[in-house]
Amino acid sequence: MTLSDNSSAVATAPGQFSQKLNLNLDTDSLGEGQPPSTEVAADVADVTEGPEASISYVVKKGDTLSTIFDYLRISQPTLHKLMEADLNILALDTIQPGHELGFNLDQQGKLKQFIFRSGLTYKVVFDRSKKGGFEFDEFIEKGGYKTEIFSGLVKGNLPSSMQKAGAKIAEAYQVTSLLKERMNFRSHLRAGDKFQLAVSRQYVDGVYTGSSIIQGFVYNGAVRKQSAFLFNDNYFDAEGESLEKAFQRIPLSKRYRISSSFNPKRKHPVTGLIRPHNGTDFPLRIGTPVLAAGDGIVSRVIKHRYAGLYIEIKHGSKYKTRYLHLSKAYVRKGQKVSRGQKIAASGNSGRSTGPHLHYELHKNNRPVNAMKAAIPVVQTIARSKRGAFKKQVAAVKAQMVEQLALQTKE
Ligand SMILES: [Zn+2]
Repeated sequence: MTLSDNSSAVATAPGQFSQKLNLNLDTDSLGEGQPPSTEVAADVADVTEGPEASISYVVKKGDTLSTIFDYLRISQPTLHKLMEADLNILALDTIQPGHELGFNLDQQGKLKQFIFRSGLTYKVVFDRSKKGGFEFDEFIEKGGYKTEIFSGLVKGNLPSSMQKAGAKIAEAYQVTSLLKERMNFRSHLRAGDKFQLAVSRQYVDGVYTGSSIIQGFVYNGAVRKQSAFLFNDNYFDAEGESLEKAFQRIPLSKRYRISSSFNPKRKHPVTGLIRPHNGTDFPLRIGTPVLAAGDGIVSRVIKHRYAGLYIEIKHGSKYKTRYLHLSKAYVRKGQKVSRGQKIAASGNSGRSTGPHLHYELHKNNRPVNAMKAAIPVVQTIARSKRGAFKKQVAAVKAQMVEQLALQTKE
């Protein structure tokens, strides 16, 4: 398997690593459950015997998990056991150059803990259990959010104008994706149009993590006025009309029986290990059409040892869906899809107890029960919540006005 669908499947020289030998001197930063250690340079070959060791490895372009494990002389069956535990979150399929992997080995050189770190905020720790498999713990750093306001004038296209005003390019694209149903970013734009953005940015120890939540956006143009405000996790215009496109509850053309429901606390019946069921299972005849639950962009088409052939679709910045154990994919990575579009044929690939579709819905990067979650439906804000909505819009607008006043003073 390859580390990510971006990376090449061809094995090249593995990346940098540094080895830490456990000398009981210092605490380390890798996290819970790890023995204190200090950095000592050593050869990888020494890892096979002697003291407990911990190795930290930075993923390089062209690496695959397989080549990294080979290089560190950790067995492929061990990698398969990790992937089996990872089946529940598929975090290892997101590995990219620059990510940091931690390996803690026992005295026999056997992997007892594996740590995957992605960015400043995400870490998964896989611990070897007594039965030989791995159990995982996910750690998500919440960090602090700070609201920042930017205002500017259109010169050229909107994203670059927003960038000039101080917005990050990803924030600008979030805004254009929110308003794409309401605005034509060519014909509705005029040079000199005014806009304002309120965005919450996440910081960990003062460092921006790359995560931003658009709180409000106001576009005051010569031909078009449009706005977007976040309220109760969904986006609305100033009149309280939803800006988000609807999802369908079930990614199939009709309602099928459910054989296994979403259950984050499911225990494996034999091993007793916690094996969350992050999706909903529909038993289906192989070849049953699988439909995109909503408009979006295909972010993964991957063949996984246990998840089988699977597809992931990103729906804006907040939602994503996953479709596992497929027999055929009709879409490729990067492709735009619309709600109800046939994306795959169901199957029985990977580790599967019988032909079925395993379907997952993630909201803000956490799996939620797709059969019950409050998914966006075309709607206006309920009358009972109108007051709260108006108040929130007024608060965001007040912040924008305040910032504008400060700007004109300077
Ligand atoms: Zn399932």
